[in-house]
Amino acid sequence: MGGRPLGQHFLHDPQVIDQILSVANPQPGQKILEIGPGRGALTYPMLISGAQVLAVEVDEYLAAKLKPSENLRVVRQDILQARLDELLPDGPYRVVANLPYYITTPILEKVLQEGHGLITELVLMMQHEVAERIVKPAHRLSGSLTHFVRFHAQAEYLFKVPPTAFLPPPEVDSAVLRFTLHAAPEDCLPKRFFEILRRSFAQRRKMLRSSLKGLLQDEHFQKAGIDPQRRPETLHFEEFLALERSSRS
Ligand code: SAM
Repeated sequence: MGGRPLGQHFLHDPQVIDQILSVANPQPGQKILEIGPGRGALTYPMLISGAQVLAVEVDEYLAAKLKPSENLRVVRQDILQARLDELLPDGPYRVVANLPYYITTPILEKVLQEGHGLITELVLMMQHEVAERIVKPAHRLSGSLTHFVRFHAQAEYLFKVPPTAFLPPPEVDSAVLRFTLHAAPEDCLPKRFFEILRRSFAQRRKMLRSSLKGLLQDEHFQKAGIDPQRRPETLHFEEFLALERSSRS
């Protein structure tokens, strides 16, 4: 992101801010975790709506500039170092964030993995390219992140945002997505499922038979109804689940 420290691209287009607020739809009394509030472009409008905002900002200067109030608590912390169960003991929370792009994936992994029971929904702005990877299963852009997200949540692409909406503008387009957390799929061993995903996409140009050697035999592929000559990017989420199930037999 143009080498910008801490991914600091601040929203300044009022129309885009309104668009995000209308999909985030903060309600009086609702608890919202905002990751990276920056100068408060989203924070202050959410407070006006009556929501209770917990803002986690790593930048000391920006965190000190935000004005805490009855409805705004500011925590100066790196979100990746936070323990969500300690940060959000009084949930459920919704998360609203214009993410720092240099750590989009680790933040997503953290909030989806640790957020069950604490977080119900997330409205997140991220790089358009990452958004596409998340919402395009069985596509050349899909990867382990696509299926990791699908394991934890239903992701919905909402709208695209151009670089001109930010100051300074980033070098890439952005997009806003909604994630609705759901329970993990039934009859699935998560550890084995994620190992299959990791191995499959570690060599995405290779056939599954070769990437999953030692973990799955041809008979497992047959049982799951999946041709072992396929490449990982052609598989849907349910097909990876079927592979994991058959690998146990
Ligand atoms: N929400 C503001 C806006 O929309 O104008 C700022 C968004 S800016 C893209 C990302 C924000 O995340 C910055 O304020 C940055 O300092 C903060 N940030 C970067 N890394 C962080 C981290 N590890 N934990 C918490 N906040 C972080």
